[in-house]
Amino acid sequence: MEATKAQKPKKEPKVVEFDDERAEQVFRIITNFWSVVRPHIKLPQERMPLSENASPEEKANFLIILAIFQRGGVISDTPSNGIHRIYARRPDLFDPREVVKMTEAEIYQAIRTETVFNYKIGEFVKSWLVNSKLLVDEFNGSALNLVDADSFREAFDRIDGRLYGIQLKIFSLFVIWLQEQGLVSRFGAVPLPIDFHAARLLMSTGVVKTGNLETPITKEIFGTKTAKEYPQLAKELLGRPSIAVRRWLVDSIAWWSLEKIQEYGYSHLEINPGLWVFSRNFCSKSPQAIVSRNHSLLLDPEDLEKTLDLWGEVKDQGPCELCPLSSLCERIFPSEPNYRFGKLVPVVRLKRSESQRPIISKENPFQSLMPFLTRDGNGELYPEEKRKISDTQIPLLVYDA
Ligand code: SF4
Repeated sequence: MEATKAQKPKKEPKVVEFDDERAEQVFRIITNFWSVVRPHIKLPQERMPLSENASPEEKANFLIILAIFQRGGVISDTPSNGIHRIYARRPDLFDPREVVKMTEAEIYQAIRTETVFNYKIGEFVKSWLVNSKLLVDEFNGSALNLVDADSFREAFDRIDGRLYGIQLKIFSLFVIWLQEQGLVSRFGAVPLPIDFHAARLLMSTGVVKTGNLETPITKEIFGTKTAKEYPQLAKELLGRPSIAVRRWLVDSIAWWSLEKIQEYGYSHLEINPGLWVFSRNFCSKSPQAIVSRNHSLLLDPEDLEKTLDLWGEVKDQGPCELCPLSSLCERIFPSEPNYRFGKLVPVVRLKRSESQRPIISKENPFQSLMPFLTRDGNGELYPEEKRKISDTQIPLLVYDA
């Protein structure tokens, strides 16, 4: 009997599957990676424009706003620069007790000059006001009191759906920043903030199994507004398997990460920035990622090999040939489908020069990847800094396969 609307069977809830063994390998390599590059990296949250004498409350109130502006699929340094400029002009906007006296129009005027926020400025203004009000009404005007709870879960459940624009990823990020600044010592591990970079690295390396999450992109894509702006990309995507980036998916990965990081004895304070820096410096420079970004093309290995002129900066050797994760990495996830259509689209990874690939071992130091380390969370890495890293002859990142 055909199911009526009322009888329509419920969709099975989707479940994410993980390869825990691979997770342990990836966490170990990323932890080693982070220990090597850490001294040379300045993360966006470390460029605090507040004076050294700022109180913990002032720092927390600044960081919660900085975190909110990391909404969207990717954690990036671009919004941080905008927030820093707003702080320089209007530090009162970072004091919830002052903000609740302001009008929406006043906040709008104060942040509209930062074009990076214009795409959702109405929402940002609203979040600024609504969150300040909640902080004043229920947390004594201090974002530090958001973490005054027995566990991360309890603190998160208390604000989930109440602080505008703050979901698990943003709250994790905020708590991690507080921990890094020494402003909170409770909770221990917290879930990894799963943005595009963390998700793609965990999916590329098979830690997150994507088989039952993938559905082919249908011709309905051409009916979207984005397809009118990016027709070539929409054409490329048609028929390819894709994973829709949904809250349940990123939250499932985040809660799983909390459990595994604790179980394996790693630190979220190393794995979180390590995944982020690794993906945006190395995975973003694989030939397929570059071609996708520069030409709106998604090319499978056999097609890519015919188009050397499109490869740009990685004609000779790219990061993948030197990558200690390459034996786990079968597919890459270019950023364009995610940024434009909110979909993670895997492409089989081109494996070139595998026979000539240096074996990353104690005898082959990690420094061979260093030339690709150009983004430190603060734009370009200065040449002197890069040279300093290469000269150090760091033999730390070893992949004892
Ligand atoms: S092989 Fe390339 S795409 Fe895969 S993890 Fe390494 S750098 Fe990233």
